[in-house]
Amino acid sequence: SAEGFPGAYCVTEPGAGSDVAGLKTMAVKKGDDYVVNGQKMWITNGGKANWYFLLARTDADPKCPASKAFTGFIVEADTPGVLVGRKEMNMGQRCSDTRGITFEDVRIPKENVLIGEGAGFKIAMGAFDKTRPPVAAGATGLAQRALDEATRYALERKTFGKLIAEHQAVSFLLAEMAMKVELARMGWQRSAWEVDSGRRNTYYASIAKAFAGDIANQVASDAVQVFGGNGFNSEYPVEKLMRDAKIYQIYEGTAQIQRLIISREHFSRFKK
Ligand SMILES: Cc1cc2nc3c(=O)[nH]c(=O)nc-3n(C[C@H](O)[C@H](O)[C@H](O)COP(=O)(O)OP(=O)(O)OC[C@H]3O[C@@H](n4cnc5c(N)ncnc54)[C@H](O)[C@@H]3O)c2cc1C
Repeated sequence: SAEGFPGAYCVTEPGAGSDVAGLKTMAVKKGDDYVVNGQKMWITNGGKANWYFLLARTDADPKCPASKAFTGFIVEADTPGVLVGRKEMNMGQRCSDTRGITFEDVRIPKENVLIGEGAGFKIAMGAFDKTRPPVAAGATGLAQRALDEATRYALERKTFGKLIAEHQAVSFLLAEMAMKVELARMGWQRSAWEVDSGRRNTYYASIAKAFAGDIANQVASDAVQVFGGNGFNSEYPVEKLMRDAKIYQIYEGTAQIQRLIISREHFSRFKK
């Protein structure tokens, strides 16, 4: 049964990532079931989940607006026709199980429709208000670790007769890293607090995610710099952090898509 975790979020396809409304997976009503055909890509927990959230098109008319054309389903992972692909080999976050999933004539009972036919796009997009704050928290945690590792190293490593932390160029770099980590933390906490306060947090969630994703990459790269040659080596922890950081600018909406959302939300406050 579709109880408990892990679940997985099956939205992206080989041909449609940022442009979610371009997805091609179709669910066709047949009697009391929907029959689904299509291909999903980059599904985190794809091989571990016992159930999936699936976004599929239910209105074939290309003129149908996205707000009505898609339906969200709960799909048990062991349903016949659900074909789980191989684990993808990624740059970082390699313990995370990411796979393509193919749906071949998968029959889903109509009871597994979430909210109602046509409500899927809103469900899929609305989920990000809840998932972006914790993803931003993850990126902030990575940046904090990079800062901690770099700081400890700077307080041990000596050049020109003194600790590298005593070279102002290094200590100011660490200060900049600390500023970014602290502000990223305040960003995701603000976006999570909006949820707890019952307010729509789209604006804050995208700011938190975009900022934390960007600074995780800057701070991890700066940590490698503080480590010098050792930073480039896999015996030391920071090269992994730099590889792991990159995905935070890509999944849960790319860095560019966050700016699109932030600017849209920003302007909407002025146009009232
Ligand atoms: C490790 C990993 C795990 C993932 N997990 C999941 C998951 O669990 N479930 C799921 O559904 N998806 C998942 N994804 C998919 C992820 O959300 C997409 O890869 C992401 O949204 C980008 O889509 P895309 O890869 O198709 O790139 P594209 O959309 O093709 O974008 C390519 C480039 O163009 C830019 N771009 C696109 N449109 C615009 C625009 N309008 N303005 C400016 N720039 C633009 C993008 O920012 C990007 O730089 C995962 C991806 C990875 C790599």
